[in-house]
Amino acid sequence: MLPAMTLLRALRLAPLVAVLALAATPVFAAPGDKALEDVRILSADDMQGRAPGTPGSALARAHILKRFGEIGLSPIGAAFEQPFSYTRRDGTTVAATNLIARIPGTEKSGKAMVVTAHYDHLGVREGAVFNGADDNASGVGGLLAVAEAFKAQPPRHDVIFAVVDAEESGLRGGRTFVANPPVPLASIALNVNFDMLSKNAKNELYVAGAGPNPALRPILEKVAQSAPVSLKLGHDTDVNGPRDNWTSQSDHYAFAEKGVPWVYFGVEDHAEYHKATDEFATIPQDFYRRAVATVIAGSLALEQGLDSLPPPR
Ligand SMILES: [Zn+2]
Repeated sequence: MLPAMTLLRALRLAPLVAVLALAATPVFAAPGDKALEDVRILSADDMQGRAPGTPGSALARAHILKRFGEIGLSPIGAAFEQPFSYTRRDGTTVAATNLIARIPGTEKSGKAMVVTAHYDHLGVREGAVFNGADDNASGVGGLLAVAEAFKAQPPRHDVIFAVVDAEESGLRGGRTFVANPPVPLASIALNVNFDMLSKNAKNELYVAGAGPNPALRPILEKVAQSAPVSLKLGHDTDVNGPRDNWTSQSDHYAFAEKGVPWVYFGVEDHAEYHKATDEFATIPQDFYRRAVATVIAGSLALEQGLDSLPPPR
């Protein structure tokens, strides 16, 4: 039995403990849990590996649009969809679609940050579904979590979210976005790209982009100091040879080609990379939750630091 004073103190502290628990829970657990659910849905077998132009790709878009609605995102203009088409090597034409939304900035700064993640993957090959859980359902889940964070904490500059198609067939969605940007390309101060956020046995997530754009370094180093993963800067120069340089490895390269500063978050290649085993069951959930918390913190810091970057061209 508790002595009377201790009991009294415990009762007095109880509400405080309850309030602290309530305040602490949504900050860390909730965004990661929702992102995990997005990954589970987008990498399920009914999405058939999300190859561009397939019914599975349309199912993936329907889920992403449903999440846009839940988060409260608005399109730029009449619709979220940016349709485009391309011709495959075998001569067939593929109808592909980017999904683009915006959270307007609280100031009319004339600058925008564009967050990208590709939702396509390799489809079905020789009867095996290439689910692409890490590549790149994980990045889409991260992008949606970042959108939710900016809704709760409105940005000063416009933040545009582009969930792009056909990355695996040559960054086609990213290149379509920069060729037909929904806002003037000159107003885009930064691209932040997510591609493969969920798998690393060493608790390491990389952030690339400060090599070619040193103004990004102090912002990213500060994020790394308190990140819940080991956030490492690098993979953005030829210092360790061209194969180690990820500048051209994902949609951020479409922005780099146009001279737009970019930041890329992602993990190093793993055993499931571009294999049918890249599925939800092989994702280390704790690491992914931490990676999502990291890209949220990184995106908020980059938006806050946008004015410290060189002005848009
Ligand atoms: Zn990818």
